[in-house]
Amino acid sequence: MINIAVFIDFKHDELTNNSKSLLNFANKLVDNCADAHLYLYTIQNISKCYFPATVKPSSITCFTIDNNVHFSSNASLDNVVSHIKDTKITHVFCTKSTTNDLIFSKLSMILNFNIITNIKSLSLENGSFHFTKSIFSGKAMAKMNETNDPCIAIFPKGFTGDILIGDSIETKELKIEHISSTFSSSSIIVENSLIQNEIQLSDAEIVVGAGRGLKGPENWVIIENFAKKLKAATACSKPVSDLNWRPHHEHVGQTGIKINPKLYIACGISGAIQHLAGVNGSGTIVVINNDTEAPFIKHADYIIMGDLFEIVPELTKLFDEA
Ligand SMILES: Cc1cc2nc3c(=O)[nH]c(=O)nc-3n(C[C@H](O)[C@H](O)[C@H](O)COP(=O)(O)OP(=O)(O)OC[C@H]3O[C@@H](n4cnc5c(N)ncnc54)[C@H](O)[C@@H]3O)c2cc1C
Repeated sequence: MINIAVFIDFKHDELTNNSKSLLNFANKLVDNCADAHLYLYTIQNISKCYFPATVKPSSITCFTIDNNVHFSSNASLDNVVSHIKDTKITHVFCTKSTTNDLIFSKLSMILNFNIITNIKSLSLENGSFHFTKSIFSGKAMAKMNETNDPCIAIFPKGFTGDILIGDSIETKELKIEHISSTFSSSSIIVENSLIQNEIQLSDAEIVVGAGRGLKGPENWVIIENFAKKLKAATACSKPVSDLNWRPHHEHVGQTGIKINPKLYIACGISGAIQHLAGVNGSGTIVVINNDTEAPFIKHADYIIMGDLFEIVPELTKLFDEA
């Protein structure tokens, strides 16, 4: 018997795109295995909950928490642990986030579940899980076959598991079972400062990144205009954030954020190995550069060779006309 618990996240009472993809994936997975069951959980306070009608479970368990409590390594997870044990959950699925990293690494220790991160693909065949995970900053893949031990699988943002996700027209409302919190923690959030970007980098399907080729912060307006037209988030290379041309939260790479958009457009970025480590999970990579020797060229699906100061405004204009 395989009991999969999918922990999902909401933003403004709406299921996040990452959770929607993970849920669709898990739903398809149990569809193809007679002995597998799906359970839904969230560690957020929600009052209403609508799901694609195709999703099997008819209820969701909501571990309500005090918004002021911040998960730290000493947060108590007693309610979650006892619920997972009572329901005989064998596998826990969640999407990577700072909070989930804290919660689920702790849960794996308490429950003695293996923890598997950076999952690239997963299949369930004859009651056995087969994982592929990315290792060495995405430079290699490790295959973990026939893993039957209980585990916590942390999926990267943007994971779809090769299942095409469409917005289902039909939805159903799920019954919410509230379990009040016993989360206790010594750390309290004193201040929350929201990042003002309209589209969050970690959730974006399209990202326009720019590097030192932009020459200075005053030129970023062409990147912002282009990104706006594409409904994309903006990103930058490390030197750009070190120089304070752009805020640090936009820095992608080995020492910055790792992103998995469907489309990444890199403008005036050389494509150093440390930058590639953060963007090689992208679906399609387009590179705009005036140097035929730039390392990024070898990793691009499409190359636009030339001066970005001419190319980017021209591309933006195309969307004006569209
Ligand atoms: C330990 C360590 C960790 C690091 N971590 C990161 C990281 O997380 N993320 C990261 O990004 N970097 C990281 N770096 C830095 C990395 O090695 C590179 O130095 C950096 O990525 C280069 O940034 P860049 O491509 O913006 O600048 P450059 O290397 O200066 O490249 C600029 C590019 O713009 C092109 N260009 C210039 N003018 C134009 C124009 N008019 N039109 C079109 N193209 C133009 C040039 O041909 C060039 O390819 C790290 C380095 C170290 C040592």
